[in-house]
Amino acid sequence: MTTSSPERDVRSPRSSSTPGWFVTEAERQRGALTTLLGDLVHAPSLSTDEGDVVAQLEHAMEELGYDEVRVDPLGSVIGRIGDGPIRVVYDSHVDTVAVGSRAEWARDPFEPTILPDAGGGVLHGRGASDDKAGIAAMVHGGALYRRLAFDPRITLYVVGSVQEEACDGLALEHVLTAELPRPDLVVLGEATRCQVFRGNRGRIEALIRVSGSSCHASAPERGRNPVYALAPVVEEVQALDGRLGVGPFLGRGSIALTKIECETPGLNSVPATATLYLDRRLTEGESPEAALEALRSLPSVQAAGATVELLQYEATSYTGTPVAQDKRFATWVTPADHPGVLAGLETGEQALGQHLELGHWVFSTNGVASMGKLGIPTIGFGPGDEVHAHSAHDQCPLDDLVTAAAWYAAFPGVFASVLARGEGDRGAAEVAPGAARESVVAPGGNGGVGSVVAAGGGGGSGSLGAEVTSAG
Ligand SMILES: [Zn+2]
Repeated sequence: MTTSSPERDVRSPRSSSTPGWFVTEAERQRGALTTLLGDLVHAPSLSTDEGDVVAQLEHAMEELGYDEVRVDPLGSVIGRIGDGPIRVVYDSHVDTVAVGSRAEWARDPFEPTILPDAGGGVLHGRGASDDKAGIAAMVHGGALYRRLAFDPRITLYVVGSVQEEACDGLALEHVLTAELPRPDLVVLGEATRCQVFRGNRGRIEALIRVSGSSCHASAPERGRNPVYALAPVVEEVQALDGRLGVGPFLGRGSIALTKIECETPGLNSVPATATLYLDRRLTEGESPEAALEALRSLPSVQAAGATVELLQYEATSYTGTPVAQDKRFATWVTPADHPGVLAGLETGEQALGQHLELGHWVFSTNGVASMGKLGIPTIGFGPGDEVHAHSAHDQCPLDDLVTAAAWYAAFPGVFASVLARGEGDRGAAEVAPGAARESVVAPGGNGGVGSVVAAGGGGGSGSLGAEVTSAG
């Protein structure tokens, strides 16, 4: 995947446009990158329990000579390099989901193991692909940038954010409003197979609840069993999944039933309530409100007198800060001709000697806050493949770590140069903050409050590289 240059001379990046120069330098950090990723995987970091990995990252950034390192009130770590007028935020979340069934794992998920699966080996362990490889490569990529390609036009922030797995965007939204307001660009380190991604579907989490009347199970006719009223709702939800719209770039909306529960006095009783939980993914043109309304309009929901509610996220961060928000996450697409996207592709050419592809994630990312809610242009470039996320095969190729570190080191200077040349459409950068959560910002950035605009392929993507989806 990488194009290592045979040359050994360390030359100024400004005097060299040799593809592979950054890769050569990043290759020298392969050991340090692998060690940091292994240490991060070794420390479990469920959402709201990220203190150990944040301490590791704080220490790593200080050792690597970052100009400033601090931890915000929610517990996200923020490192700064430089003091220039163009502000770029690199973000990778540092929490992971749980391991699930241990029986599925071939080895201890918290004992990082390097297997010679491909190329330079593959590191296995919980969080390797989502998103610990991303933060490891960003931390070292930032240090390489500072040492070898520092650009006085740029302030680079490297953020290791918390609680993404529990509530996408919540911690990054705090960073982008309270700590580092209105940066010019956000780069997410979620797995892209080292390609350039520029969007993901939004989503809501909701419940449908039917109330019944409990009684002794020996005489069910005395009560009203809510599960029987919920049964046709389950069927209609399943049928709804096949009828949802297809967006031009992000693909199909979807709905999944994720849990069913009853409130019951006991296993010899008719339950009092029955509730099903839903994860609804929203493609271009679908708003959270319309999705909730569509559920309320289902004939079975009406017939059962069921209630449909948006879920709430409430938690206390490991620092003791309470947080809460609706489980409503905005669909987002950054235009293909935005300078950040152009710079992402150009960094591939210049630093990696590779023609990169554009694409989008199937899963959700912190971009639901940065671009979806706040209108801050956002792109993604990360090691690993999202197909391994949350699975017992969680893994990241070590070659990807090196490639990503090289890309992160080269990107800030390329982005500043693209801006200086006045290339691309900066419209999206001028979208007012506070755009409605349900809005999708169109190419050109007319995403006013409540507007839902199909985001299309955005100007001439054909000439920029083939668009690909990540996980198929
Ligand atoms: Zn992730």
